[in-house]
Amino acid sequence: MLSLDYRHNLQFDFLTPDVCQKLSDYLDSESGKFMSYELANAIEIPYERVNELIFALGFHGVLDVELLIYHVICSDAPIASRPIESGFPSLPYECENCGTEVIEPTELEYCLQAKTISKVRFI
Ligand SMILES: [Zn+2]
Repeated sequence: MLSLDYRHNLQFDFLTPDVCQKLSDYLDSESGKFMSYELANAIEIPYERVNELIFALGFHGVLDVELLIYHVICSDAPIASRPIESGFPSLPYECENCGTEVIEPTELEYCLQAKTISKVRFI
């Protein structure tokens, strides 16, 4: 069990005691992988902010974070995933689904997927 001082270690203005409670409840109940928007809905904070929170929780060893890659013109499903530490793919990028060499950055979209790797208590 990790203890995280959320005021000191995380420093997000939206992290109130109430939101921290929802966050620990969600992380306790979710044993599989979840998408960033699912966490955003569960703790009722905006999607853009939840990505920053997921990065921070990944950095502190609470979450294992993956970047899902979407090629928007060929599929609604992710075409690949990679550990967040690997960063964004460089272009040109060969789509594993349709075989196209992607040159335009706008053809790729990204989403974070995470899995809890350590129980956490916010203090
Ligand atoms: Zn494709």
